[in-house]
Amino acid sequence: MTPSLSLQAQLDRMTMPGALVEVVDAEQKKIRCLACGHRCLLKDGRRGICQVRFNDGGMLRVPHNYVGALQIDPVEKKPFFHVAPGQSVLSFGMLGCDFRCSYCQNWEISQALRDEAAGRSFTPITAEELIALGRARRTRAVASTYNEPLITTEWAVEVFKRAKTAGMLTLYVSNGNGTPEVIEYLRPWLDGYKIDLKTMQDAHYRRELGGVLQHVLDTIRWVHEAGIWLEVLTLVVPGFNDSSDELWDAARFIREVSPDIPWHVTAFHPDYKMTDRDRTPAETLARAAEIGCEAGLRYVYSGNLPGRTGDWEDTRCPGCGETLIRRRGFLVMENRLSASGGVCPGCGTAIPGIWR
Ligand code: SF4
Repeated sequence: MTPSLSLQAQLDRMTMPGALVEVVDAEQKKIRCLACGHRCLLKDGRRGICQVRFNDGGMLRVPHNYVGALQIDPVEKKPFFHVAPGQSVLSFGMLGCDFRCSYCQNWEISQALRDEAAGRSFTPITAEELIALGRARRTRAVASTYNEPLITTEWAVEVFKRAKTAGMLTLYVSNGNGTPEVIEYLRPWLDGYKIDLKTMQDAHYRRELGGVLQHVLDTIRWVHEAGIWLEVLTLVVPGFNDSSDELWDAARFIREVSPDIPWHVTAFHPDYKMTDRDRTPAETLARAAEIGCEAGLRYVYSGNLPGRTGDWEDTRCPGCGETLIRRRGFLVMENRLSASGGVCPGCGTAIPGIWR
């Protein structure tokens, strides 16, 4: 038995009946999973593209009660720049993903069920124990992150319900391969959603990542329309998505949804199977950030190159230009917004986000 099969057998025991499902043919025990944009049609005994959700006798089984990774991070690392600046986040991930990005920086977690080299294990834990841990460590928020949270949404909601009772914010760090059903299911329990807009080329999504561009664009709109706080991130990869035309396409799309959505343009480093190119130069990130501003986005940030891209890590007031939050990497050096409840102390412009 290969290690990955052994892991899969163990994980199959860490499941519960899922809610994001529709019955397609009761007699044939055929169901459709609604948790991500793949909308897998599952015959009895089959599993979805993510490998972690499966049809067991006509019932969808979904992951619960374990973590594949757990740590406390600054909220800036997720990254959220307009949510509780400088605060800590209890960050948990499970195992598996509905994408297969060749440059994944968390591939040992996300590809644990596809790639035997990952060699990843898991730790059983209940939602209650997880939140007790967050309370003991006084974290301001809890985030489903590291692997794709959409594929384990039912358990995330179980965790988030308890987090809300404990007064914590709830966050998703996601590839944005959503469905209207999953966003509606999350909406009452989710405060902040970060979506990776990885490229504006559908061919790249399909060939290199295992997704569909339109699903991600739709999810960006749905999340914004649902009133969940949204930030978008593009990892700028040399030779993959760093042309000015493509960056303009991404910036224009986000601007069209809302100029108030923060756009993070962050630096790539060679990882997993994409080791054939260099790191993203600081000049490329600065060019991407300038494009975002010229397209009309009010909050554009560079990431992964602390102190090397001028003031692109800071939050400035779009009304008067004053610097409101100064950052260096994940560190908040100065924060003039939280005390004012998100209002620029200079000119009174309200800055969108979750500040208190
Ligand atoms: S989460 Fe996505 S990939 Fe997994 S079974 Fe559901 S639709 Fe398929």
